[in-house]
Amino acid sequence: MSNADASLKQQLKTLCHLQEHDMSLLSIRKQLREIPRQIERLDASVSKASEATAATAAALAEVEKAQRSKNAAIEMNAVQREKYKAEQRTVTSNEAYSALERQIEFLDQQDADTEDEILVLMEEGDRLKTELAEREAEAAQENERTAEQKAALLQQQRDLKMQWDEKREKRKEILPEIEPELLAQYHRWIERQRPPFVADGSKGFCGSCRISIQPQTLKEAQKYEKLVRCSTCKRALYMHPPSAATG
Ligand SMILES: [Zn+2]
Repeated sequence: MSNADASLKQQLKTLCHLQEHDMSLLSIRKQLREIPRQIERLDASVSKASEATAATAAALAEVEKAQRSKNAAIEMNAVQREKYKAEQRTVTSNEAYSALERQIEFLDQQDADTEDEILVLMEEGDRLKTELAEREAEAAQENERTAEQKAALLQQQRDLKMQWDEKREKRKEILPEIEPELLAQYHRWIERQRPPFVADGSKGFCGSCRISIQPQTLKEAQKYEKLVRCSTCKRALYMHPPSAATG
């Protein structure tokens, strides 16, 4: 007697076994699809942190550049001032001397303004340096955190792939134990809808849709003479709860 001739009761039991297997395969596939997305999110959070650091570094560079240009303006004024002073030593009229004096005063005023601006820039530079240090520390922390999480996810991915392969192999061993027509019905069902195809009817209601089973249907299902389906959701009724230990 081949396995395919085994009683319907035994067939349904084996089919429950296959179904549990397929449900865990589905769950593994779902998790495997989710992992690359989780890794992408981690990578995005690392790039966000390093972009924030780069933005602060760029702002600081701008401030330092402005500071250098203001210092250069003061140096140029110093050269100009020396020229005016040299001219003052050679002019003969008071009027010309005073005109040069006003030019020098103008340079002094300009320098005073520039120095005020430099002070503001220095404060801004200090603020940005503190911010940059904070952001660099945050980015380093983020890198470390995500590297750990990423390593854990990659390990999980390897474990799941191994489980997947093992379960696929086991599945191949279960298939020949099920009568082809029943197996075809099962496959047609899981192509169209989610498992389960076999539902536990032993409690008087359908284990899948939870609706009460008619007493006549219950009786028929208990005989295992033919496949009996839930009149509501059309799942195959099995009168023994699927064992959680299988699979
Ligand atoms: Zn049902």
